[in-house]
Amino acid sequence: MRELELLKNGAGEFNIALNDDQVENFRIYLELLTEFNSHTNLVSSVEAETVIAKHFLDSLAIGLAHKEINLNQQLSLIDIGTGGGFPGIPLLIAFSSWKLCAVDSVAKKLEFIKILAEKLGITNRIEIVPARAEELARLPEKREGFDLAVTRAVAKLNVISEYCLPFVKENGYFVSYKAKSAQSELEEAQNAISLLGGKCESVLKYSLTGEEQRNLVLIKKVASTPGKYPRRTGVPAKKPLVR
Ligand code: SAM
Repeated sequence: MRELELLKNGAGEFNIALNDDQVENFRIYLELLTEFNSHTNLVSSVEAETVIAKHFLDSLAIGLAHKEINLNQQLSLIDIGTGGGFPGIPLLIAFSSWKLCAVDSVAKKLEFIKILAEKLGITNRIEIVPARAEELARLPEKREGFDLAVTRAVAKLNVISEYCLPFVKENGYFVSYKAKSAQSELEEAQNAISLLGGKCESVLKYSLTGEEQRNLVLIKKVASTPGKYPRRTGVPAKKPLVR
């Protein structure tokens, strides 16, 4: 399949070398996503080239952060609002020692993740949790329990910082995948990030075929998140922490 060459080459540009088994896992992912998307809305298009660029490669852009984060070690990852598995599942395929907690408030979407994990043989490296981030972050075993929190297309940065930073261990990272709005969202979220114990370390820019510029916002956890955050379910989105 020609598109899988695009995947391999594109991953290489993000410093990720995919072997044949990993490429095969992405092929299975694409196949199942196409099947599921006919009845459960996971992505807007299942055209192979689009899924590879817009979802698989976009998720792998974290490879650009290798100077800031040691990616070649065993890392525990939480993906908040994973939907069709982005960015968590491509990361789990690409980094074979990582473990993932895939979270979404819509249980139906996680049904897809469950079947996919079985097909890919990665059930021992994934925990699938139907929950709201605001509630899950209150559980002692989840709070400040992860090396990395990632999220894409869930909400603005001041809102997702409140969802994600409580899960990150000190010295870990919250990595937010953003479109070109990254800079303005970051300005708006500076105070929230600092209240939650984070510090923006860098914004890495990249581009994907047919897409506008994308950004990875890397926020380091420099202090523990105060116990009052996240606020009650729905409050972070309704009343985002302000400047
Ligand atoms: N991250 C995926 C992607 O980039 O394709 C899915 C993005 S989708 C637009 C947003 C997802 O976030 C939805 O599946 C929704 O159910 C989930 N979500 C929104 N707010 C959430 C919350 N507070 N806790 C958990 N999941 C949430």
